Amino acid sequence: MTTILDGKSLSKRVIEEVALDVITYLEKGFRAPSLAVVMVGDDPASAVYVRNKIRACKNAKIDSHEYRLPSKSKEKELLDVIKFLNDDSEIDAILIQLPLPKHIKEANILREISPEKDVDGFHPLNTGNLFLGRESIQPCTPKGIMMLFEAYDIPISGKNAVVIGRSNIVGKPVAHLLLQKDATVTICHSKTDGLKSIVKNADIVISAVGKALFVKGSWIKDGATVIDVGMNEYDGGFVGDVDFEEASEHAEFITPVPGGVGPMTIASLMLNTLSCYKINLKNIKKQK
Ligand code: NAP
Repeated sequence: MTTILDGKSLSKRVIEEVALDVITYLEKGFRAPSLAVVMVGDDPASAVYVRNKIRACKNAKIDSHEYRLPSKSKEKELLDVIKFLNDDSEIDAILIQLPLPKHIKEANILREISPEKDVDGFHPLNTGNLFLGRESIQPCTPKGIMMLFEAYDIPISGKNAVVIGRSNIVGKPVAHLLLQKDATVTICHSKTDGLKSIVKNADIVISAVGKALFVKGSWIKDGATVIDVGMNEYDGGFVGDVDFEEASEHAEFITPVPGGVGPMTIASLMLNTLSCYKINLKNIKKQK
């Protein structure tokens, strides 16, 4: 029997728990946690993602502050906003909505966010700590995926895991998190030869490619766990990277799109904001 991993319900539960934690701080007289969301330009998909994040903040009792810059903004203008937010002790967490316009180098921006306010875990210090297996702020999508494994008690140790995609925000970090849980991990990308046969051997398949229905059901080994990160416009709606109907005939666990990884990314963002808040409160206390 196939179990559909219900990211929507799990995310709701996690966000409720974040709200309860925040309430204990509010009752002690502390301010609410605060997340700054910075968006450059007016990409419609990014605007939807930002709206969803801000809605989640309300449910988690987190204050959100939106900063919108025109698409032609210079790198320096965005860096000035980051400096302002880094220096503001009332801001706990900073999120730069990606992708940025092409004339702005993402790496130049992400490394200027204070590592302790780096809610997406993209600063080189947090990335380095994650790759070294040390405590760090973890990128939201990989962290959300790992929460699904834990919630559904899906074994990882000793399993053959195949990650399709090697981006810095999904593929590489999720591969490292699986490795830390003792999976044997293969990372595939656009130059990988024989992808189908590699996937056929996988107990765990994580697809983060960004191509509609790219992974066929016939590639999936019976009893595998299939995590579909893709979010692709298709036929007037959204589908994942995986052919869900076909893959469900083979998988023991599978995420739907939408309603799988997407909501877990948002839940992780709320958890990470809470962590940044707790770090900031400690730092403020030390300075007094
Ligand atoms: P990305 O930066 O574009 O990376 C895509 C990866 O797929 C690259 O590593 C690329 O290989 C690989 N790839 C492309 N064609 C391939 C092929 N034919 N065979 C094997 N690998 C191939 O994308 P991303 O940011 O990781 O996002 C991936 C997808 O996840 C997108 O649909 C995005 O919208 C979605 N996403 C969803 C969430 C969520 O919360 N649900 C969060 C983040 C991303 P090369 O490195 O060789 O180019």
